[in-house]
Amino acid sequence: MNIVEEAFSRLFPEAAFTYAAHLRYSGRFKPYNATVRKAGSALYFNLSRSWKGTSDEIVIGLIQHLLVKILRKEKFFLAAAKNSAKGKIVSLNMQLYDDFIKGISEVAEVDDGGSDERLESSFNRVNEKYFFSLIEKPNLQWGSGSFRKLASYDYHTNAVIVSSLFSDAPEHLLDYLVYHELLHKKLKFSSSGNGRAVHHSSEFRALEQNFDGSNTIEDELNAFIRGMTFFRKRSIKNRSFKRAFNWRKLLLLR
Ligand SMILES: [Zn+2]
Repeated sequence: MNIVEEAFSRLFPEAAFTYAAHLRYSGRFKPYNATVRKAGSALYFNLSRSWKGTSDEIVIGLIQHLLVKILRKEKFFLAAAKNSAKGKIVSLNMQLYDDFIKGISEVAEVDDGGSDERLESSFNRVNEKYFFSLIEKPNLQWGSGSFRKLASYDYHTNAVIVSSLFSDAPEHLLDYLVYHELLHKKLKFSSSGNGRAVHHSSEFRALEQNFDGSNTIEDELNAFIRGMTFFRKRSIKNRSFKRAFNWRKLLLLR
């Protein structure tokens, strides 16, 4: 039995494995990334090379997360979910995987010379003001100039990534994005059990309110993005332009 089939049968002991599984390790991925694709009855798993050498029990958890994601509409999935506690598909391996990911964010290498000065100052301000300087410095990076994903925290590489749209933004807007992402680093995530991790818990939302001026800051962010959109209007495609005007979506910080 290959590892995909093993992962499957532990998750769905009642169901028959009727797929052709392909598993490939790739050096082109960021550390500990992985994707899955389904074409007919074939499942294609692409795992970052860094997964090689990780315990099979954890890799099984990873594959189970991917299986839950890609098979959620299958009949046997719905039947299994119906019969499980709270209608959720979870396993010991999936919990092991979650703990592993939380763990690697703590030990991922931090590139000390690599941070941009503005991001670094923002991190220091926010850490001092809101976290008693107790947060260890993560990797700090500018991302692409995305209008949709303003900022994110990558557990796999322990990196706070901020859209380069904000490279000249007012300090407090940048700080707010960094604050939000540091909350992710601090609180991590919990498993909802339906294949989705809960990143913005009620605790998270409550702490988010601690930021100075948090009640008006999302309006300010919108106004800032609107301004950027105006200046970039000619250079961005019509579709992303319309998308950028979908204010609601902009508020979905990742
Ligand atoms: Zn978030």
